[in-house]
Amino acid sequence: METIIISDTQNLQQAAQILQAGGLVASPTETVYGLCANALNEEAVKNIYKAKGRPSDNPLIVHIADLGMLQPLVTEISPIAETLMKHFWPGPMTLVFKANSLVPKVVTGGLDTVAVRFPSDPTITNLIKTSGLPLAAPSANTSGKPSPTNFARVYEDLNGKIDCIIEGGNSKYGVESTVIDTTGDIATILRPGGITFEMIEEVLGTVMMDPALGHKLKEGEVPKAPGMKYTHYAPNAEVIIVKGETSKVIAKINELTAMHRALGKKVGVMATDETLSYFIADTVLSVGTESDPTTIAAHLFEVLRQYDDAGMDLVYSLAFKTTGIGQAIMNRLEKSAGYHFIEA
Ligand code: AMP
Ligand code: MG
Repeated sequence: METIIISDTQNLQQAAQILQAGGLVASPTETVYGLCANALNEEAVKNIYKAKGRPSDNPLIVHIADLGMLQPLVTEISPIAETLMKHFWPGPMTLVFKANSLVPKVVTGGLDTVAVRFPSDPTITNLIKTSGLPLAAPSANTSGKPSPTNFARVYEDLNGKIDCIIEGGNSKYGVESTVIDTTGDIATILRPGGITFEMIEEVLGTVMMDPALGHKLKEGEVPKAPGMKYTHYAPNAEVIIVKGETSKVIAKINELTAMHRALGKKVGVMATDETLSYFIADTVLSVGTESDPTTIAAHLFEVLRQYDDAGMDLVYSLAFKTTGIGQAIMNRLEKSAGYHFIEA
């Protein structure tokens, strides 16, 4: 298949027509690039799963561009949802609602709920408005790999497999949206993201983290967000997170790196601006500055992919603070490492 490339500064009419005809279009969003299809067209949505190699029971988020588009998709909007929508839409927040039967089961992975987001990025909102369609859109990458935060990574994974890619700049947040279940009495975070626990707590007073977060799923444990079951964000290199006091972590990583290099392995280190100069390895990269964790979120997925570009076998990473956006950063990093931690 030939993939058409359109700049985000061009008219999006052609991309909108592709969506109306049941095709697939990758678009920038403020979180990561998304792979879009008409959420109400079952065949089109099936092709998203095919292009990504995504397991079919991992449901998709439906994207809207005005509040009027929400009503037909859901059967109930709770007061919790109303409050969250008022404060954080448009933006990097997805809410889970009871689904209307109009939403195809292929979108919800067979669940009776549907996840909906109203993004703030002008390109995807323009695409939704021009096509007049709610768009199902997971991240625009091969399933299992780090999500794409720039055009080049979407092209690398999906050129020749989808109808169109809209080329824009780097994603602002760099991690996917916060997913919040609003169908119960207490708002429950199913996936941390750009809208943080602290921000939600401030407007609601009470919020819970889903118990399935923060550890490798135990045998028989069924998470509310089916996506939690699967390997995510993993480069080809094995990622290992080293925890502890900074000076000890640096010493430990240098010791392990030297050992593995002596055995013929290519070893990368994921450092920060503050720690970059202390490491000796084959590829030492800074993911951002500790003084502003939003920079770490913005670069995380791209830097993980750069170790593969450089042919690393192994990557040691620092652990990051888990307050604010740090919770989303560590959630993604833990998954990319398959929960492989070492204490320094
Ligand atoms: P992605 O499209 O890769 O950003 O992943 C979407 C995330 O939202 C996955 O973790 C899904 O499991 C989760 N999700 C989507 N729909 C629902 C739903 N109806 N209930 C719970 N989680 C959902
Ligand atoms: Mg994804």
